[in-house]
Amino acid sequence: MLNNLNQLSIHEAHELLKTKQLSSVELTRACLERIRQVEPQVHAFVTVTDELALKQAEKADELIARGDASPLIGIPGLIKDNMCTRGMLTTCSSKMLQNFIPPYDATVIEKLNECGMVMVGKANMDEFAMGSSTENSALFVTHNPWDLTRVPGGSSGGSAAAVAAGEAIYALGSDTGGSIRQPAGFCSVTGLKPTYGRVSRYGLVAFASSLDQIGPLTGDVTDCALVMNAIAGYDSRDSTSVPQPTPDYTKCLTGDIKGLRLGVPKEYFVEGMQAEVAAAIKTAIKKLEELGARVEEVSLPSTRYALAVYYIIAPSEASANLARYDGVKYGFSAEEAENMWDAMERTRQFGFGPEVKRRIMLGTYALSAGYYDAYYLKAQKVRTLIRREFDQLFERFDALVTPTSPTVPFKIGEKTDTPLQMYLSDVCTLPVNIAGLPAISIPAGFADGLPIGMQIIGKPFAEEIILKIAHAYEQATEWRKTRAEINTGGV
Ligand code: GLN
Repeated sequence: MLNNLNQLSIHEAHELLKTKQLSSVELTRACLERIRQVEPQVHAFVTVTDELALKQAEKADELIARGDASPLIGIPGLIKDNMCTRGMLTTCSSKMLQNFIPPYDATVIEKLNECGMVMVGKANMDEFAMGSSTENSALFVTHNPWDLTRVPGGSSGGSAAAVAAGEAIYALGSDTGGSIRQPAGFCSVTGLKPTYGRVSRYGLVAFASSLDQIGPLTGDVTDCALVMNAIAGYDSRDSTSVPQPTPDYTKCLTGDIKGLRLGVPKEYFVEGMQAEVAAAIKTAIKKLEELGARVEEVSLPSTRYALAVYYIIAPSEASANLARYDGVKYGFSAEEAENMWDAMERTRQFGFGPEVKRRIMLGTYALSAGYYDAYYLKAQKVRTLIRREFDQLFERFDALVTPTSPTVPFKIGEKTDTPLQMYLSDVCTLPVNIAGLPAISIPAGFADGLPIGMQIIGKPFAEEIILKIAHAYEQATEWRKTRAEINTGGV
């Protein structure tokens, strides 16, 4: 009898499925059982799709019996609830979409279905992906499996917590300013934000269209590469998707990083950063040096403007994207209105939560006639500066290494009254979205039992290099092998 099936990685499970030591139905049941056990504490799922999962698992077992050996077949995955799933609730953890059932699948869902995904559910998130803790979910807060009194990060907090808790083998998240990497760091899992344009956004509910990307959250780097193999690639239905061939992302996982040039931008060790986090990342960088990388301190002076630029550009795009929620076409619709305008007003007043309203107001202000040049246009110019600084460094370096977040996971409720404190949680991840680059967060230690993540940033379409570095580090360390122990309150 195999134990703890729900803690297998994709590649371990695949080997067992392929050699018929395990069936997808058994594996799926193990995850569903784990969900039943820990969901009352973790609250990572908006919807658990157990019936569908078991049906897909049976089908996968039939296909495997007939010789289908695709790497993701029969493996339970979880999808952030802002990706459209046909015939199934897609709420964005918002009251506005609490009854929204899309008539189509996002491209990533189509692709994963073609690869034989078993979908165990949809994951909780900050409302419309705006937040860093899942506390902005209009439904409930997700708890960090490493310490249930703390946040799992956000906005893909449900996805990260579920993988850390062993409720799903892998998950998809979306990242606009750090929403894959920051929760991955907070939950000690691996999370990759691909280059802008690498993965199709078709069917991803838009937050800030020039920054959003979908990516994997997994138990290790190999799994991350396997999910990328499934979801990356050009899609004519997303005009920003880039027609570049997709490599086999597992090919680069050789463990050999000798001679690679790594830059460590000093501005990412920000003021107020927790000392244990800085120390852990410095130790991790030493490890990379021992593995043969050439490390040098570098500078990205415009980093200090990144937060301000992000909080002009992202809300501006959000204010335009969220104009569609008027109670007419889909989603929540306020009743008892006096006329059409009143109906729209009430729909938006009751359908959106406070953070979403704050973003819409910030964005509308930044875009308004008298202020457009002073805020939006200026932010776009600084965006170009930030991107150029990265470009220049990438002429001399293969990748950059930084902490993922300035702190370990904070307490639930600790930052909810001070939005600016919450925004600061993403200082190290936002610049990457502003410049459209790929970046990965991998486990790099613990402080008092709380996870610390290391971020590796690459040049556009150089996912292979950052995966290679992440993998070499992972293989040389033991962090990923420690699992969160959840007190299920049982005896
Ligand atoms: N935390 C950031 C925000 O609130 C980033 C969110 C994201 O990446 N979706 O906007």
